[in-house]
Amino acid sequence: MSERELREALVEIGRRCYQRGYLSAYDGNLSVRLNSEQLLVTPSGACKGLLQPQDIVRTDLQGHPAAGQGRVSSEIKMHLVIYQSRPDVAAVVHGHPPTATGFAVAGIALDRPALAEVIVSLGCIPLAGYGTPSTDELPEAMRPWIVGHDALLMANHGAVALGRDLFEAYFRMETIEHFARISLTATLLGGARDIPSHKVAELLRIRERLGLPPATPGCPRCEALASAPPAGARNRCGLEAPAADWSEDDLVEWIARVLEHLADPHAGRRVE
Ligand SMILES: [Zn+2]
Repeated sequence: MSERELREALVEIGRRCYQRGYLSAYDGNLSVRLNSEQLLVTPSGACKGLLQPQDIVRTDLQGHPAAGQGRVSSEIKMHLVIYQSRPDVAAVVHGHPPTATGFAVAGIALDRPALAEVIVSLGCIPLAGYGTPSTDELPEAMRPWIVGHDALLMANHGAVALGRDLFEAYFRMETIEHFARISLTATLLGGARDIPSHKVAELLRIRERLGLPPATPGCPRCEALASAPPAGARNRCGLEAPAADWSEDDLVEWIARVLEHLADPHAGRRVE
């Protein structure tokens, strides 16, 4: 794409993010690789829903604006660390979508194996630690999670989505917020039921076949996703109901837990 087309695409994605409430007022920032040495980045202090192509700032890979360009986003450091760590990534969308940011504020990652499409498209969505915006703390808190994850929550801050182009990064931001809303609804309805672990393994294999990164080795969240124990509904006693595909061992363990529960109905569900 030409520089002009990329500037127009940034304007369009900024408008969509603003209209969908992923950004408010002057929040958030977007960027895209222009070539091997330059980026296009949204400007500081502007509403991303009302940008014009000429407002976009061209910078080098250290975030320094080219001559005659405006002031670059104060969160440029986050974008730079992503481009340095992920040569495959060509676009970054950062915003504060309210439900996903609610999870980030509550300290809850979106890493439950609850929706097949999310496991296939994003794997897990981990929660990076808190860092003061615009300082080095923020990219450093994100750095361990960037390799192998295309979507992250940032504690007490927001969410970031990476993509091979701007639209892929934007659609991943949509998936983050959509999954957060579904997860919140399931929680309000009594709690999400996880997809059984052997079915999660199947989804991770589909992910690999599609050329997406496998569950990241060394990422505790990804490993938990790949080896999640079989899980069924929780019944009124707070015990899991047996799923139809449980093995004999699972059933033996479950019966033992039911017997324990009958001996002491309050075990395991006291509020500490
Ligand atoms: Zn932010």
